[in-house]
This record gives sequence, C-alpha cells and structure tokens, in this order.
Amino acid sequence: MSSEKPAFASSSHAPSVSSPGCLDIFRAIFNNSSNDNTADEKTTSEFPRDSASDDDASTPLIPTYEGLEAQMRDLLVDQDNNSELLELCKGNEFAKTVFHAIEKVSKELREISLKIHEEPELAFKEYKAHALLTDYLEKKGFKVERKAFGLDTAFVARAGKSDKVTIGFCSEYDALPGIGHGCGHNLIAIAGVAAAIGVKAAIKKFGLHAQVKLFGTPAEETTGGKIVMLERGAFKNVDVCMMLHGANADLSYPAFLALDTAEVEFFGKASHASATPWEGVNALDAAIMTYTSIGLMRQQLHPTQRVHGIIKDGGKAANIIPDYTLSQYTVRALKYSELMVLKKRVEAIFNAAARSTGCTVSIKWGVPYKDILTNSVLTQKFEHYMKAQGAKYLPKEEQLRKVGGSTDMGNLTYALPGIHPVFNILNLESKDVNVALHTRAFAEAAMQPIAHTATLRAAKCLAMTGVECILDRKLLQKVKKEFEENKEK
Ligand SMILES: [Zn+2]
Ligand SMILES: [Zn+2]
Repeated sequence: MSSEKPAFASSSHAPSVSSPGCLDIFRAIFNNSSNDNTADEKTTSEFPRDSASDDDASTPLIPTYEGLEAQMRDLLVDQDNNSELLELCKGNEFAKTVFHAIEKVSKELREISLKIHEEPELAFKEYKAHALLTDYLEKKGFKVERKAFGLDTAFVARAGKSDKVTIGFCSEYDALPGIGHGCGHNLIAIAGVAAAIGVKAAIKKFGLHAQVKLFGTPAEETTGGKIVMLERGAFKNVDVCMMLHGANADLSYPAFLALDTAEVEFFGKASHASATPWEGVNALDAAIMTYTSIGLMRQQLHPTQRVHGIIKDGGKAANIIPDYTLSQYTVRALKYSELMVLKKRVEAIFNAAARSTGCTVSIKWGVPYKDILTNSVLTQKFEHYMKAQGAKYLPKEEQLRKVGGSTDMGNLTYALPGIHPVFNILNLESKDVNVALHTRAFAEAAMQPIAHTATLRAAKCLAMTGVECILDRKLLQKVKKEFEENKEK
C-alpha cells in the first residue's frame, strides 16, 4: 500500500523517525574547513575552567559603550527621521539601557545556564529548565504562561503594555541523548532571556509602544516544538521573531537545509528460504532495491541535496523470506520548494521497489523542517552591532555555501520575518574553531566563561535589532516587505 498522504505530516506532535539535529551542519563544515585559523583549535582540556567569576561578562575583550557610540549614532541617523529620537540616539541611550540591563543579570543568567547544562533534559522532557526559566522570568516582571499551547515544557513570557509592535525571541533548552548540551541549548536558553530583558528595559525606560515576547520552545532536536506552537497560533501578531545559536563560527546567514523524514515499510509474504522460496514475496529485496536506487540517484542530485537512510528491520532469520522490512530515510534540500520535488523522486523509488518485488509499501513522512528565510534587513542591523563589538562576517554568498543541518526555526521564518544568526562560543574574534556541534567537546565548551560572554554579547545585539524595529517603523516596514517577497520565492 502506498500512502500518498503522509501519515503524520499534519499531526502536531508526532514522533519523528529520526532526530534531525539542528546544527550538525557545522561538524561537516569545519571539519573540512580550509580556514587558516585551525591553529587556534583547542582541545577541551585547554579551556579555562570556570572560576565562577561572573566578571567575565565585562572582560576587556568587549569594547566599552563609548567605543560603540559613534557607530551606533551613524546607524540610527541613517534609519530614522524622527528628530526627537535622533537626539536620544546621539547619547546612545537605547543601547546603554539595553546593554546595562543585560549586564546586570549576567550572574543570574550564568547560574541558570550552568544549571540547565548540569541537568540535560531531552525533547519534551525539559521540566526543570521550564521551571527554572519561567520562575526567573516571573521574578523579572514578565507575565508568564507556563505549559503554553498544550505543551508541558513550552512557555510564553510577555512584557510591555502595547501590542503596536511585538518583538519575539525564542529560547531552546533541550539536550541530546548521551552527550547532554552538545548543541549548547543552555546558551540559547539564556540568550533569549537576555534579549527579552534588554528589550523590556528599553520599552519601560522610554515608554515605547511595544511589547516583547519570549517563547520557550521545546524539542528542537527532535520533532520541533516551534512547529507545534506555530500551528497552534503562538506567533500570531508577532512582528518579528529572532533567536541565536552558539556554534564554532560567526555566521549571520547560516544556510539550514529543509528536511523531512520518511518511515518506509515493505510488506511481502514469508516463506521457507530453501524449501519454497518461490512462494515468498521478499520485503528485504524491496528495501535493498530502494537503498541501491537512492545510491544511484545520488549522482544526479545537486551537491546541496541529501538523502540518507538505514534499514532498521531487515528480517528475522536467514532461512525465512522476510515478509516485513522497515527503513528510515532523511531527505534534505536547500529550499523547501526543492525538498518537495526531491521527496517526489524518492517516493517514486519506494513505489518502484514495491511494484517490482510484488510488495506493498507504506510511506510515512514526518513533520518537515523548512530552510531559514534569513531577513537581510534584520541581519544587517544585527551584524552592525556585532561588528561594532569585534565580530567579523564573510560575505553573504560565502556564508551560504556552508550548508548542512536543519532547524524548526526555519518554519517560523516562513510564517513571519526572522533571523537565526549563529555565534562563535569559543572566542570573540570570529576565529573558526574545529570543535563540532553535537559532540562532548562542544558540550564542554558550552559551559565555559567565554561562551557566556559571547552569548551575552550576541544577545545584546539581537535585543538592539528588536529595539530598532520598535523605534523605526520604516525599518519594520522594510523588514516585512522583504519577508513577503522572499516567502513567495
Ligand atoms: Zn543540535
Ligand atoms: Zn541546536
């Protein structure tokens, strides 16, 4: 039987047949990197151990406010024609307010980050992180909705009285089986909190007509909590939504692949493999034909497309013609529209294998992760603040050539304007380091003081990107215009 309609494609909370893994991209990228900075590669033992000094957040590696002032002034003068606001920006009051508010909670955020790191929790089981974050946000004056949108470990924290402009941020806090926070989601958790606290402070101090919402989004590593929350209306009327992800490089245009997973079952007829093999219908033949055909198809795939799979159940005994097999495949492409075409090609192979062996087939697709539609207007703002603090970026085209992993944030960027910049947690000078995500080494790196400093630096820049959207309606219009144009492509 060929299932035309994915069995749980529209299901909001269906189990995935495999873990997409948000950023395994960077393992591939930097293991093969010809970057000259490999001399800076560190083994985990070389990381300075946390001396519990929260003064790290104000290490001299971060430029002073004064150093940023001129650049920020230029930026805001270009963007705004409101003379009253211009006057305020000259004194860099917005950035000062945001930066101070985030610095002030550095120690508290460091504690939260380490607690989440020490007790890694898997997808949809992030109970302790959920409690820790929501209790903290409530203490900081946010209106908190726990267990939001029917998910036990999701939340929404809101601040600001006006809904004229709503700036959204996402926090993730799920871990990986076996290696804990090898994706550094303890840092993503506090990055979202820090950005929300920064924007809240600006809204309050300057009486801005806006609100900030922090979304606690579980299960990024498996079935994508954001996708469930999106389907259930969490991001309705949110103007922009942004998040950060720690990595081993600074990328403002990270290319995440669109992804879907397939669970493929072939049903045949069992028979004695020696006495009456002609009476059998061999489900393993169908699984092997599928695997081989996909291998042959690979030559005709674009270099950025991926199809990879395994045979989970290939039969029970060598002397029985298998009447059942189960295979799992992951299909990835640069764009969601491209993924749809690739899925059809792969499905044709599943069906052809069934037909030629006399089996029937059941194909169950998972919940697709879309690629990231990076909003360049927001990105330019974020980049500006990061560069002002020492980060460096390759040209957009070069960044986009570094393709690999996938994230549920992609689906959000198809629903509303957003960005998902990646920041280097190993140094503040944008030196690529060969410490791959989804490894124990990265988990170790994610608890170091330098990672905390890098996280807060990026969070400040993300917060200021949000504040600029509140201050400058023309900018926000530009952001939305680009979003509308991009999602049609
Ligand atoms: Zn990951
Ligand atoms: Zn991740």
